Amino acid sequence: MTTIIKTNNPVEHDYYKYHPMPEISNWMAQVAKDHPDVVTKVEYGQTYEKRTISLLKIGLNTGENKKAIWMDCGIHAREWIAPAFCQYFVRQILQAYKTDPKMQEMLKNMDFYVTPVLNMDGYVYSWKDNTVSTRLWRKNRSPGPSGCNCTGVDLNRNFDANWGTVGVSFDCCSNVYCGSQPTSEPEAQAVTYFVGTRKEDFLCFLTIHSYSQLLLIPYGNPNFTAPNYNELMEVGLGAADAIRRVHGMNYTVGTSPDVLYANAGSSRDWARTQGIPFTYTFELRDKGIFGFELPEDQIKPTCEEAYSGALHIITYAHDKTFSGAVATAAVTLWTMLAIFLVLMCVL
Ligand SMILES: [Zn+2]
Repeated sequence: MTTIIKTNNPVEHDYYKYHPMPEISNWMAQVAKDHPDVVTKVEYGQTYEKRTISLLKIGLNTGENKKAIWMDCGIHAREWIAPAFCQYFVRQILQAYKTDPKMQEMLKNMDFYVTPVLNMDGYVYSWKDNTVSTRLWRKNRSPGPSGCNCTGVDLNRNFDANWGTVGVSFDCCSNVYCGSQPTSEPEAQAVTYFVGTRKEDFLCFLTIHSYSQLLLIPYGNPNFTAPNYNELMEVGLGAADAIRRVHGMNYTVGTSPDVLYANAGSSRDWARTQGIPFTYTFELRDKGIFGFELPEDQIKPTCEEAYSGALHIITYAHDKTFSGAVATAAVTLWTMLAIFLVLMCVL
């Protein structure tokens, strides 16, 4: 006898596997459908190959103008652990907010904007076949300028922050080709427009890469220092401690020129120039044994520790903004009460 069990539940999403682009797009639609009270899918741009770039906006609708957190993954195609982390991050905050009062408070005060795959064309290309030239593709897929037979711009050199000054190439065949001009690429334009038009709202800009186990702070050009460099370092070191406590992994914190190499035109640097205070690049596992081809059995521990680090930064930014506001409101109330009592006695 055969029993067929019918179920309406779709196949559960496996967060500990790498997923090709269509599966990630389906997952985004499903998450929005499953959590209509807190999740909205927002389309905000188009890639060179006309794919629609979208993000998940996660937060409680309070009717007020809220602060915001930015996270993007997959700006570099071959760094597959990054999109896996964005998916994990979304699941974790959606689970946490059901039971954790702190996450409820943060989702009341802030919206999280999470782009699981920014460089969609490059990501699709990296899944095309298992040859080195596709799997290890880094750039987007826009054609080179006339006379150049190479494809792609390094999107993390294309943003309008000291563009083209250091750590880039003007050779369109290079892996760090910065494009013909700042923000020439549609994917960089999409982020620039979306974040740029709400820049006062954003407290954090977290952009997720691999590999090397680093937390990078602005700026990539050694001639410039972020006005809140000390605080960025302190919060970054706190995040590295949080990461270490999960699986004992060491992450190094610093500016790109101090701990990696100088580079201009990154999205992190651009976000800091826009006045967003807490901007970090995460370089996830490992330190080079597997590099971009991190095995799937490392997805879970990598995501667990990175979540802890990201949450440290986000919680700091939240508490700095909102604990102060609460304290100020309380002081104002007491002042008004005192004035009222004084007036009552006088009159
Ligand atoms: Zn990268």
